[in-house]
Amino acid sequence: MNKFFTPPSPLIDRFGRQVNYVRLSVTDRCDLRCVYCMSENMTFLPREQVLSLEEIGRIASVFVSLGVEKIRLTGGEPLVRRDLLDLIGHIGQLGLQDFAMTTNGTQLSHFAGSLKAAGLKRLNISLDSLDPAKFRRITRNGDLDKVLEGIEAARAVGFEGIKLNAVIMRGRNDDEVLDLIELVRRLELDISFIEEMPLGVISEHNRHETYCSSDDVQQIIEQHYALQPASMKTGGPSRYFKMADSLSRVGFISPHSHNFCSECNRVRVTAEGRLLLCLGNEHSVDLRAILRRYPRDNTPLREAIIDAIELKPEQHHFTTDGDVQILRFMSSSGG
Ligand code: SAM
Ligand code: SF4
Repeated sequence: MNKFFTPPSPLIDRFGRQVNYVRLSVTDRCDLRCVYCMSENMTFLPREQVLSLEEIGRIASVFVSLGVEKIRLTGGEPLVRRDLLDLIGHIGQLGLQDFAMTTNGTQLSHFAGSLKAAGLKRLNISLDSLDPAKFRRITRNGDLDKVLEGIEAARAVGFEGIKLNAVIMRGRNDDEVLDLIELVRRLELDISFIEEMPLGVISEHNRHETYCSSDDVQQIIEQHYALQPASMKTGGPSRYFKMADSLSRVGFISPHSHNFCSECNRVRVTAEGRLLLCLGNEHSVDLRAILRRYPRDNTPLREAIIDAIELKPEQHHFTTDGDVQILRFMSSSGG
């Protein structure tokens, strides 16, 4: 073969999108119960239905052999999974361009150093409020101080990037947009503001009433800081902006108001091994059955993944009318 010839990626879908990013959920469990993500009484998967860390590692290796360059671990809360560092060590050695994790930060003060040492490059930390009482209400039981300590610990060990994620809900935390901006400016972190998605049946609020568009959030910020579009392209759903006098980038993830499906480069694997081709559709392929049927041969897994990419839908159809469009919760989708 000509040494300059690069074979086409086997992971290009029917719409010409190349999948080079995989989100792996390592658990559906969590120590918090954020009101937009979970119901108060959740039933979690029986342990035997959850992939072992070794099985998740096999999936990661196969995706990387198929050209995937970026992996994010998520959940549920990844840091509640015992022995997670073993998996991070395995994935950290696969030569990825980017290896990240999304966490609620409650246990980061213990784990930040070992995560970095095991090969994790970047962190997203979810933080929706800087008011302890409001934080507790939104997370149902969370302690804001623990998360703030976790953020400090992560900063101290020197990750390549730390970004905060905030889901903004009207009447709940839309009055905190500027406080969050001031925090990231002071700590020199990035932030993404997220529109709430209609995943899972929740009873705490009506999503139609709390819907707050990214344009509304942007307007709040622009009353104080002009936002200029940042050139940075992540191939992801965030649209990024910069402020003239700060290193922090401000992103908006806007599944309702700015559909990003045409650039979608990602798939997800749930904690029970379902390969989801789109967050907003129910299509999935059961990778766990293949992993367990062929415990020592990755070829069938590889073929199943290549075939599955054919099923990737063109787009999601989320609406803001308050109806649930997808029954599975974000925590079981691998957010
Ligand atoms: N537990 C970790 C955390 O909270 O960062 C990782 C999993 S969580 C499901 C991943 C992200 O999804 C978090 O930033 C969370 O705020 C977001 N999320 C959860 N439910 C959502 C929803 N219904 N709409 C939009 N974002 C949601
Ligand atoms: Fe847990 Fe993350 Fe969902 Fe909050 S958003 S309940 S921290 S999984």
